[in-house]
Amino acid sequence: MIKDNYGRSVSYLRLSITDRCNLNCFYCRPCKNTRFIPHDKVLTYEDMFYLLGVVSKMNVQKVRLTGGEPFARRDILYFLNRIKNNFPKLDIRLTTNATLIAGKIGALKDIGIKGLNISLDTLDRDKYRRITGCDYLSNVLASIDRCLEVGIRVKINVVALKGVNDDELESFVNLALKKPLDVRFIEFMPIGQKTLWQRENFWPSEEIVRAAGNITKLDPVAEQDKNHGPARIYHLPQGLGRIGVISPLSNHFCLTCNRFRITADGRLRTCLFSDKDYRLLPLIRSSKVSADHLQKVLERAGQKKPMGYEIMGQSSKERKSVCQRVMSSIGG
Ligand code: SAM
Repeated sequence: MIKDNYGRSVSYLRLSITDRCNLNCFYCRPCKNTRFIPHDKVLTYEDMFYLLGVVSKMNVQKVRLTGGEPFARRDILYFLNRIKNNFPKLDIRLTTNATLIAGKIGALKDIGIKGLNISLDTLDRDKYRRITGCDYLSNVLASIDRCLEVGIRVKINVVALKGVNDDELESFVNLALKKPLDVRFIEFMPIGQKTLWQRENFWPSEEIVRAAGNITKLDPVAEQDKNHGPARIYHLPQGLGRIGVISPLSNHFCLTCNRFRITADGRLRTCLFSDKDYRLLPLIRSSKVSADHLQKVLERAGQKKPMGYEIMGQSSKERKSVCQRVMSSIGG
């Protein structure tokens, strides 16, 4: 069990399986010539199995595979199959831009993947091209429909960007009215050395909920029925889906944070906002380091898990970005 000095315990791991992504979202990886992690420093699937074996004995119950783009990693279906077979009790989730999943949706269903978080910041083709540098919107929308057809739950994550997609609130609400899916707006965070975050782009959750409530009736989902981590979720009584907001800045959820993050090069981050990391790769690969030792390292690191809002408070006084590493290499 990983417990920190504030009494929080870790039950959720976000594991970045690659730092490479086929999209170039301007707010996520603003620097065009980002250097990727050399292949020999990226966790292999064997490294990850070993790690999952260790954390699954430490009360980690949920693992989210992220990236970069997780589906850009070769043989991901083989990997998913193996973790599902080896760790049947682990709740395995994925966060994806859904541009590479078209031919894999049936297989994902067969493997037992129950839901996907799909990142999609616009429903407008030209704007999609401007945000991501690619022309894949129709492909993503078709994959969303296909997931719903085969019974894979879909949560669409929209980074809320004033001046970029605030004019599309109605379109997103209409999507959630028409289809049985969740659309969740996430506040834009100042992550990464060259972040483009500016106060003018910040679109706070309260404003989103108020404006969505003027479009359709919103019924808040009770806390105990949520099962969504930090999102505030609303049923749409006039439609099929739901709307949600995630407010890391305007209403932080550090007090209940239960997460560890591990980057594709095996660095443990105990807090999204802190650049303090713990290099696990040498421990995972060394034949001289036992699983018990690795477990102790995780426990000790967990004890010192900081309160992110304190880091955020300091950094907003000192510099613009709250941490140096870009989101695409942390995994969101
Ligand atoms: N490629 C996958 C995807 O698109 O979902 C997984 C990785 S991506 C880094 C994970 C999530 O982080 C995406 O939903 C992305 O929009 C979000 N994200 C990136 N930069 C962000 C920022 N500065 N603030 C809030 N969310 C951000």
